[in-house]
Amino acid sequence: MSRAAVILLAFAACSTPDPRIPARDGPLVIDVRYPTVGTRVPAVESVAVWGTLGTGRAKLMVNTAEVTVEANGTFAAFLPVPPGLSPSLRFVARRSRDSVVHSIALDRGTRPSTPTTGAAARDDGPQAWNRWVTMQRLPSDTADSATQWRPIYARFRPGGEVALGIAQGIRLFSDARTAQAMRLVLAADQRVWIPRVDADTLTRPRARILRAGAPTVTNITSSDEMLIAVPLPERLPSVVELSGDRLLWTIFGAQWGRRPAAVDGDGSTIRRIVPSDSAAGQVVIDLGLASLPLGWRVEWHAGALQLRVRRRASPSKSLAGLIVAIDPGHPPDGTTGPSRLMEDSVTLAVSAVAAAQLRALGATVLLTRTNGHPLSLEARAVVAEQSPAHVFVSLHLNAPGPGRPPSAVYGTQTFWMNANGRALAQLLLVEVAKAMGQPAIGMYQGEFAVLRPAWAAAVLVEGTGIVVPEREAFLRTPEGVEAYARGVVRGIERWHRMSSTRAIPARPDR
Ligand SMILES: [Zn+2]
Repeated sequence: MSRAAVILLAFAACSTPDPRIPARDGPLVIDVRYPTVGTRVPAVESVAVWGTLGTGRAKLMVNTAEVTVEANGTFAAFLPVPPGLSPSLRFVARRSRDSVVHSIALDRGTRPSTPTTGAAARDDGPQAWNRWVTMQRLPSDTADSATQWRPIYARFRPGGEVALGIAQGIRLFSDARTAQAMRLVLAADQRVWIPRVDADTLTRPRARILRAGAPTVTNITSSDEMLIAVPLPERLPSVVELSGDRLLWTIFGAQWGRRPAAVDGDGSTIRRIVPSDSAAGQVVIDLGLASLPLGWRVEWHAGALQLRVRRRASPSKSLAGLIVAIDPGHPPDGTTGPSRLMEDSVTLAVSAVAAAQLRALGATVLLTRTNGHPLSLEARAVVAEQSPAHVFVSLHLNAPGPGRPPSAVYGTQTFWMNANGRALAQLLLVEVAKAMGQPAIGMYQGEFAVLRPAWAAAVLVEGTGIVVPEREAFLRTPEGVEAYARGVVRGIERWHRMSSTRAIPARPDR
């Protein structure tokens, strides 16, 4: 082995401490935030490790690897999982003649988890059953009123990807069930799954296919909305999907009496509204877009299903009139940094600073929480779905997923779900990374409960990795909190100045 290779290996095993981290010399401890005893490492070769020794003057060995200890005593490393069915990590910390030892047993996950007994636990695959059911959530015992309002999210397979939200109260035919889930027939060739607990099975039958009346269009200038209403005998499930420069609204279980004529839209957001297909027990309303709407949602009102489409305000430098909802991520849950900095306390502080800056620029700001009390995802999502906010931003701090090193989250990531959040996700990625002086890792389409509603432009921001010692130390300073907040504010400002026609996806050839 060459001398250079030896030096390289030594560097890989133990890099130098980060000079930006202030020194701390408290009592010698081994305080490991991750992994904990019993952390499952079923199919990973290495595991992320972070925590603190309480002093920057100590040395740390984990099994046979020397781990860099920062000036404040924190560490974050990516270490091999030892071979064998019961691997464990042995931490040895030393400061002059002092030493502490701590072992953490990991779970290889090869043994079956607690054996399940009894019929309730068995699931032998779908069984036919034919009955009418009503979408209905059990009242929550957590006094969470949000649960009573939110739709039930149906999936393409039990526990799989979300297909659409179905409002509570809708009656549907169910043709199959498993122990935990039931399958719903939306139209002849459209079936989705919901948890069995989310429907009341004592329901009167109705006609399989209902007759839909011609859509009417109302322009509501006061709220910058267009309202497309389809008369129906009762509420049916529907889904709104963006496809190129068209918004397709599909209502399941309906057919036109006679296919209605196309009608003109407002010209600025919607060019033309074309009632198309009513094949296979579903009708499609095809909205040709002139620009990307701010958002949309479907409601049941006065014997009609209504699609409300929100227009974007014209580009403006001033934030006057803009309503921004900020969601300080967690509690419950959340990540803890190496020296015990909690994700939820930072997101709360960042949100308060961002809210003050946005208000100073003229915006109205709503916060999902203003104190440390836990708030359910359901309740947060209701703000995204029901508040008048034009922008919904959920703020978080990152930790690596299983088998990924702490360095993988050094930088900013943003997530969008519905197409109306994409441009905002791009701008927040660039601005938060720039303000915090770190890489922009990337933006992704991801399914998060708070991003499901398409009513506002909604984005989830992972500001940086709280598990990275230097980033955690930065977030402990007012400058770190201010930098994250400033990036969020700049991203929103740039989005507000952007023309809505620029946000529309390319028109596909037809
Ligand atoms: Zn989080």
